[in-house]
Amino acid sequence: MASKSSGSFATRAVRAGQTHTAENEQSEPLFLTSSFRFASAEQAAARFANEEEGNIYSRFTNPTVRLFEQRLAALDEAEDCLATCSGMAAIMAAIMGICRAGSRLVASSQLFGATFNLLENYFAKFGVEVVIVPDSETDSWKKATGSKADLLFLESPSNPQLEVYDIAAIADIAHRAGALLMVDNCICTPALMKPLELGADIAMYSATKYLDGQGRVLGGALTGKSEILRERVFPFLRCGGPAMSPFNAWTLAKSLETLLIRIQAMSATADSLAHWLTEQPTVTCVNYPFSPGYRRLDLARRQQTAGGGLVSFSIAGGQPAAFRAINATQRFSITANFGDAKATICHPASTTHSRIDAQARAQAGIDDGMIRISAGLEDPADLREDLERILAAGQNAAAT
Ligand SMILES: *Cc1c(COP(=O)(O)O)cnc(C)c1O
Repeated sequence: MASKSSGSFATRAVRAGQTHTAENEQSEPLFLTSSFRFASAEQAAARFANEEEGNIYSRFTNPTVRLFEQRLAALDEAEDCLATCSGMAAIMAAIMGICRAGSRLVASSQLFGATFNLLENYFAKFGVEVVIVPDSETDSWKKATGSKADLLFLESPSNPQLEVYDIAAIADIAHRAGALLMVDNCICTPALMKPLELGADIAMYSATKYLDGQGRVLGGALTGKSEILRERVFPFLRCGGPAMSPFNAWTLAKSLETLLIRIQAMSATADSLAHWLTEQPTVTCVNYPFSPGYRRLDLARRQQTAGGGLVSFSIAGGQPAAFRAINATQRFSITANFGDAKATICHPASTTHSRIDAQARAQAGIDDGMIRISAGLEDPADLREDLERILAAGQNAAAT
């Protein structure tokens, strides 16, 4: 747990987790090595027998990966953190560690496409009972969870609908049923929201998004209590193998140094673009947690310190209009990633959420006219000018 003496968020972001080698380097060292040497056969045996602490092999532990884990744990004010090779690997590892055949896993209908697939097509196949909650209402979660469950899982805000869930209320439902609550905190990151503080047991990250923030490496992480992460999840990571690469860990640990200022700048830009989009007659719907008309504005303000860098909106004319609109961009990159310094744009129904069937997509509120944008670090005025071009192209398509 980060102590008060370790400073505020901004200070921890640049200092937490750093140790120094005999070279006394200023920047964090990168231990790009797959294994570690032992002084003797006896020491090797002692390490394998868990009689002596120390590194063995980078699938188990690596000092640069540990640096990233400790820095992220400090930012989330978490007891511990485990890093994985991607966000999906983090989700898989958590479920492998917590659930077994016959477990009840209750999840939101608004999940990242691959997450939905992993639950419905894989964990269900191995006998995990997967229950999908149709909406974000607390009563629906209570009903779906019942009196006994093992794991509840949600994304808040969700990608791409940006629906905000009441984490404290759902944590309470989980705990009454003897379950743990895991929250996918990809979109806010610890810089804008701390799910553990709100009552969740595990916060999950796709480090690929805002934690990297420059579109370079894949990574994932889980934060929470050591008792859950070390004792239940780590044994799977060690033998299952989705370890984070030391190079990616180094990149990500350095990225955490600038997380706060990046996400604050991106949020400010997204907030202004969302506001502008709500005033455009051709836009039928805007999703942004901090926009004035947002259904759960009070809840969003209670849980998050800013709205985040993502905005989704719908235009009339379905997929043809959305495609024409996206193709008109001159400033956004057409790519599935988000949280990058470069603004990005995508059509969720045909990309990130195309592998879930049309009915599940409709239930999750993703229509064919929906476009998702991720604010980058560009001048907001340049992005807004491009959005004018995008909307005009979409409208032309709708008219023809
Ligand atoms: C991208 C994403 C993931 C998956 O992360 P990867 O790093 O791509 O494996 C999970 N959840 C959300 C909300 C995401 O946006």
